[in-house]
Order: sequence, then C-alpha cells, then structure tokens
Amino acid sequence: MKKGVRMKILHSNLTTKHNTASSTEGAYRVDKFTETVSEADVLARLGKTQTDILAVHTVEYMNFLKTACTHEVELAEVDLTESSWNAMLASTTLAVMAAEGGDFAVSRPPGHHASENMASGFCFFNNVAIAAKAIAGKTRRVCIIDIDGHHGNGTQEIFRNDGNVLFCSLHQDQQWPNTGLVTESYMGPDRQNVIDLPLPAGSGNDVFKMACGFILTHMERFNPDIIALSAGFDGYIEDRLLDLQFTTGAYNWLGEQLRQRGKQTFAVLEGGYHRKVFECVSALVSGFNGEHYTTAELPTKSSAAVITEVQNTFSIAKSNL
Ligand SMILES: [Zn+2]
Repeated sequence: MKKGVRMKILHSNLTTKHNTASSTEGAYRVDKFTETVSEADVLARLGKTQTDILAVHTVEYMNFLKTACTHEVELAEVDLTESSWNAMLASTTLAVMAAEGGDFAVSRPPGHHASENMASGFCFFNNVAIAAKAIAGKTRRVCIIDIDGHHGNGTQEIFRNDGNVLFCSLHQDQQWPNTGLVTESYMGPDRQNVIDLPLPAGSGNDVFKMACGFILTHMERFNPDIIALSAGFDGYIEDRLLDLQFTTGAYNWLGEQLRQRGKQTFAVLEGGYHRKVFECVSALVSGFNGEHYTTAELPTKSSAAVITEVQNTFSIAKSNL
C-alpha cells in the first residue's frame, strides 16, 4: 500500500431509507455514521451501477427486484418499499466506489447471501461481488475475505471455480444458511478456490486471529492483486443473532494485518445486528490506517475445548488446500 493512502468510510443517507424500522437489518445499524457521499453523487452513478450489477446478476433478476420494490412485497425477510430500490442501488454504488478508492463502504442492504438470481437473508445485490468484478476486470486476481458471522454462501456460489477469485469465509458453525462446511475448502488444479472455516459458538479474539492468520497464509499462495473484505460484524460479542465473542480489538488487528499485505484493499459492510456497528467499522479502518483504536473492551479468550475444535477444523481445511 502506498504511503499516505488512507481508507475512508463511505456512507450515504439513501441506504437508511430501506427497511427502516426493522429490529434486525434496520436503519439503526448505521445511525452513527456521517454522510460522506451525497445523494446527488450516488444518483449520478446509478446508470453505471446497473451496468456493473449485470456482470454478476441477470437482467431478469434485476427487473424482478425493481418490481418487488414498486409493489412493496416481502422478500428475503424484508418488507420492501419504493425507497428500497434506490437504497439497493446506493448500497452497491458505495461498494464500487470503495473498490475504486480503497475505502470502506457502509452498504445497506448487505449482499453476501445474494446469488446470481436469488435474494436471501436481507441481501439483494451481492455488493462485494459486483465491486470486485467492476475493478478486477478479466485479468486481475481478487481474494475475498468474508468475516461476517454467517457463511457468505451467495458470494461463494458466484465465484466458486473462478480461477481469478479466491473466496475465504470464517463464520459460526451450525448456523443459517448451513453452508460453508470445512469440507467445502479446496484449492487445486480443478479449482473451487474456497476456504471455509466454521468456528464454534464462544470463539473469542484468539480464534478470530488464528482463523484470519490461516486465511492470510493461504492467500499468499494465491497471490491476489486485490483484497476485498466482506465486513460483517455479527461476530461481535454484543450481536443479537450469533454467539461469537469478537471485540473491536480483533477488528483493529485485522485492519493492521491487511495494511501490512500492501495490496489494493477495500471493504464492504455485511451484517452486524447490534448498536456498535460504527465502533466495529472505526476499529477496522483505524487499524488499516495505522492508527491506534482506543477501547475499554477487554480481549476475549476461547475455552480449551473451542481451541481444540478449531485446530481440528484447520487440519481438515489444510489437507484440501
Ligand atoms: Zn451475518
């Protein structure tokens, strides 16, 4: 990474007009962020964004989502409204802008459960996949690291067997969408290019660092030009849906680790169902920018049983990579 390159946080108020009152994927998640990309700047790019979307999703699917918003139907556990359409496009636009500038997109709705032609788990357009394709073209290699507490099944489905993309995910085991088993990990001449590390409930910062370290080590062999982070924060200790125990210190550490790789890097928000999404994002971005992040949170430690289980998972993954 060039000296002086700083990761900025990209947020647009357009993303807050979707699924506003939900107690899960609601607008409360992003209410501490300051708007840094104006409505006019996002709206001016929507034509380009729709072209970028079509590199990942079908035109039938895009039209289906637009109609679903117009008719205000329920889809992927969300009550869509007319404002949802521009929020979806804004969410993807921010992701592409983040990819172009090496920034962090506060994307809402999230994207990593969306596949080529299916919405799922609050996700409609696969923001990180679209952004990765938009900047990588046909030749540059991308490693997508998904730290959301759920498996990024949509992203994996889109890129599985793609010789130019390595998809890596750490997530809580035995949770929706019940994919991302360690046995899906494979890198070989006949490709899959996937590293899946399911982690037990109760995994703390120590396990987070072990899992990210495992991914970063194997990533070196793939030698990507670009690192894309699917930054979900439902692994955070206060999350209401999951039982991982990560704290802001872990995210700050990951930011530093990514900076040290010296690659073009960007990040896109995925899940995180608690009131500290802003703190998690700030910790990660501070780490990337080489700044200390001050927090009163204590680092979390995993039990011996959790560590043993994680080591077993790593050895299974290693045998397929
Ligand atoms: Zn999630």
